[in-house]
Amino acid sequence: MKKNLFDTLNTKKIFKLVLGLGNKHFEEIEDLVTVYAIAGADMFDINPSKEAVEAVMRGVKKSGKNPDDFYYSISMGLSGDKHIQKCVIDKDKCKNCGQCAKKCPQNAIIAGKNSYKVIAENCIGCQKCEGCKAISFTENEYDVEKIVKIAKKYKLDCIEIHLSTKKIPDKEIKYVIENYKGALSLCLDRKFYSNERVKKLINKVAKWKGDTNFIIQADGVPMSGGDNTFNSTLQAVAMAHIVQPYGTYILMSGGTNEKTAELAKMCSLKYNGISIGSYARKIVKDRSLTDAVAQAQRLIEVCRND
Ligand code: SF4
Ligand code: SF4
Repeated sequence: MKKNLFDTLNTKKIFKLVLGLGNKHFEEIEDLVTVYAIAGADMFDINPSKEAVEAVMRGVKKSGKNPDDFYYSISMGLSGDKHIQKCVIDKDKCKNCGQCAKKCPQNAIIAGKNSYKVIAENCIGCQKCEGCKAISFTENEYDVEKIVKIAKKYKLDCIEIHLSTKKIPDKEIKYVIENYKGALSLCLDRKFYSNERVKKLINKVAKWKGDTNFIIQADGVPMSGGDNTFNSTLQAVAMAHIVQPYGTYILMSGGTNEKTAELAKMCSLKYNGISIGSYARKIVKDRSLTDAVAQAQRLIEVCRND
């Protein structure tokens, strides 16, 4: 039987692969999990649907590893959060130039007959394609009760709520605290969370829970990753620095890459792990299994090297 997630976080820095809150490209999910499971990742962050959870379990099975070697988290986005948005192309306005497809990191935009079109399951809402009048975004509904049910059914270790919203979603946070025994993670980004707001949120949640045994995912600039520079990971480290005094567990995300651990070390930051999405997915794309695993192992090693 595996250790409680918090016991593990107390003993080592973990590597979490973010598969994408909005990512319902199940074949991609399965392949990514196989690669990162073989490479030694600790945790997978999954779209909150049973199909995505099952794709993760298939990926672990294909890796030959024991499912109990890993931790699993499902993420929930709230209204206004990019993570639950999907790109839509108005075919009447599309001039067929293909620029949006070149910018898409998920291969979610493909050429159609007379216009480009979106494969909704592949779209993660990153909005890297925006800037054209033919493009707009729709929002998927979230349902906290359904998400808690999925987490319980599959015995998942953690529910993460993305707080990319102007208002702190008290009702949803309380619902998870009251109805779910696994870990709670709150994902905060720089756009909505000032130093004062972080303090207010953590004090509030600590009061509801009776302790600070929850995770803050310090999500600098959500879905900003892809580059391997100090600049792109700077806000994740800054966010973790703001959270540090309040005694919660901290994972960094949002623009995270191979420089994150190094920058955190330079800043003498105390944290419990690194979550990587865009950059982790990019470095293994279109590679053979052997090559992809080698890339993933290198990334995980760098992230743990503090
Ligand atoms: S949606 Fe816009 S950017 Fe994309 S192919 Fe059509 S005109 Fe070009
Ligand atoms: S660029 Fe991002 S938002 Fe646009 S289609 Fe691709 S994944 Fe979706």
